[in-house]
Amino acid sequence: MKDELLNYEFGSLVFGKSLMKERLPEKIYNKWLSLLNDQGALDMADANIIAEAMKDWAIEKGCTHYCHWFQPLTGSTAEKHEAFIDKDTNNNPILKFSGKSLVKGETDGSSFPSGGLRSTFEARGYTYWDYTSYAFIRDKVLCIPSVYASYNGEFLDKKGPLLKSISLLNEKACTLLHLLGYEDVKRVYPSIGLEQEFFLIDRDLYKQREDMILSGRTLFGAYPAKRQELSDHYFGAIPSRVIAFMNDVDQQLWKLGIYVKTEHNEVAPGQFELAPIFGEQNMSVDQNLVIMDILKRVAHKHRFVCLLHEKPFRGINGSGKHNNYSLSTDTGINLFDAGKTRKDQLRFLLFISLFVKAVDKYPELLRLSTANPGNDQRLGQTEAPPAIVSIFLGSNIEEAVEKIIKEGDFSLDDTELVNQINGIVNLPKDNTDRNRTSPVAFTGNKFEFRMLGSSDSASTVNLFLNLILSEVFDELNQRLEKVKAKDKSSEIKKVIKENFTNHQRILFNGDGYGKQWVEEAEKRGLPNFDCAIKAIAHYNDQKHIDLFKKYSIYTEKEVAARQLVLINQYINTVTIETNTLLNIVNQNIVPNIVRELTNYEAVKVENNFIRKRIETLNKLLEDIGDVIEKIEKKSSSICKNDERLKSALAMRNDIVPLTEELRSYVDQFETIADKDVYKLPTYTDMLF
Ligand code: ADP
Ligand code: MG
Repeated sequence: MKDELLNYEFGSLVFGKSLMKERLPEKIYNKWLSLLNDQGALDMADANIIAEAMKDWAIEKGCTHYCHWFQPLTGSTAEKHEAFIDKDTNNNPILKFSGKSLVKGETDGSSFPSGGLRSTFEARGYTYWDYTSYAFIRDKVLCIPSVYASYNGEFLDKKGPLLKSISLLNEKACTLLHLLGYEDVKRVYPSIGLEQEFFLIDRDLYKQREDMILSGRTLFGAYPAKRQELSDHYFGAIPSRVIAFMNDVDQQLWKLGIYVKTEHNEVAPGQFELAPIFGEQNMSVDQNLVIMDILKRVAHKHRFVCLLHEKPFRGINGSGKHNNYSLSTDTGINLFDAGKTRKDQLRFLLFISLFVKAVDKYPELLRLSTANPGNDQRLGQTEAPPAIVSIFLGSNIEEAVEKIIKEGDFSLDDTELVNQINGIVNLPKDNTDRNRTSPVAFTGNKFEFRMLGSSDSASTVNLFLNLILSEVFDELNQRLEKVKAKDKSSEIKKVIKENFTNHQRILFNGDGYGKQWVEEAEKRGLPNFDCAIKAIAHYNDQKHIDLFKKYSIYTEKEVAARQLVLINQYINTVTIETNTLLNIVNQNIVPNIVRELTNYEAVKVENNFIRKRIETLNKLLEDIGDVIEKIEKKSSSICKNDERLKSALAMRNDIVPLTEELRSYVDQFETIADKDVYKLPTYTDMLF
């Protein structure tokens, strides 16, 4: 079974490198390979040959259709299916897939958000094959990863800009490495490993919760008597249904060529984590989207629902998506690896210091790349990283940084440091313990960015990381170009020292959850956006517009459009959640309180307990009535405001706290409600 899986099944549904090598003429295969290095081009005749090979393979696998699989600004994926069928000159049916259909697709995209970039009269959007990510088969459909652009050539998706940033980074990093004496480097590329967290709950229970169905999270629910304080939950005895689910997920993902291991997460009950082995950035982002999709489908098959929401349950750890980021060269150097020689170590310190500088220049961008209303429930709460961007380097490197700043001493203690950061010797305990509270942690040979929410696409955060690094590389290139060869080494030391000295404020090794850090961060001038919309408001800050324009990532208009999409997403989510909660309260909770009240009032005996209970229920009804009225009033005044950002802020400041208040009454009722009256699944039902 094992051998069969590895030799035959693994990757059997993906048109990957080895299959291309096997099925394409050598010349075409080599042309495709050089495209990956930003070199050469394909002509239509080449595309025809690739399309033909893809089609033949897909049909052998039972496909009848293909689609351009793309990533609109909703953050999820979209596709438009086309059959391989066509007519020949004699009007007979043939199976056909041309190079033109492979390279370009047309889709009526009027219902995808564009932030105003595309008016309805030119609603058509075009999809273009992304030859850097492999085509794959899902449900007998050949899916072709694609970018999505408007008639005017503006990207309307998340993949297009990411690809731009990858080639920008390649260009700037190569120049830098050449200036540093690594003339043989031809390509530098980011790699990421994405850890995906999710919850699994029973589908029948899910279906009884309108809030779950409509908003993906519980909008009410009292804390269960038992939460995660005892780490005993069902890890010890995973139900066979869950095991079957996990096996199924693994197998499906292996077939898609995704190196993944499903693991049980030991933090929250019902919560799991899945982490594939890291790979090239663009493909890993795609694969993560596939993983999210497969998780949902397989869960359905096993009568579960997979919750990708950042915080499905209040008081229980939320779900994130850790983005492990590193930069590699085609010559096999990981630029965040300390290496072995003195020269390696100086290079290592330089790249670490450049990363620190980039993040310190643009903490707002990184924060806003994680801004969605779901993540608001998680960031800055007790378990997830705080909403303040800071970097944890680990005490060893921080010590080295101190020495650099204070004494201009660049020597790393080889034996100790190199071993420890290569992971040969475990990091000291306090290191790993503490760094869990950090949003950006250096973990040996990569930076782990932990702020991203579980439901988000990893595209934007990686685009921003690539972009901000490109800028600091570019600035350094201009500086080093003016330096004579013999002075380079001392100039590099100067740069490292400058970077660490000027950007020390972003380094933080302490407890990121503490209130003290919030105060300290404020003193340091670090931004703290405690909610998504405050971060989103900074998208179009002048320094961001300048950066996007400088490297032709976005025009000012595109920045505004992308910002608007996020604002609308925020408003829509809060509106849906508020309306759902109001419906449940009106249609279910209030009638049940009344029923309960009637039951108590029917009790004939004079009794203090009963009297108090009646008072409590009465008070609940009154409070609920008041808060509903307030919500309705506020909502109608917000509706009248046509400035979207102001509306979103008003929702956050005025509506969200009221829904929280409303929730507290519902939760209060749940704890005293008669089980025969209150029949909605509770946290205990859903999680244990
Ligand atoms: P932890 O849970 O301690 O954060 P895991 O081992 O579960 O760590 O996950 C780490 C992720 O980082 C995996 O996806 C792994 O493949 C990835 N990773 C490891 N090395 C690198 C690297 N050099 N660059 C990018 N990602 C990496
Ligand atoms: Mg992690």
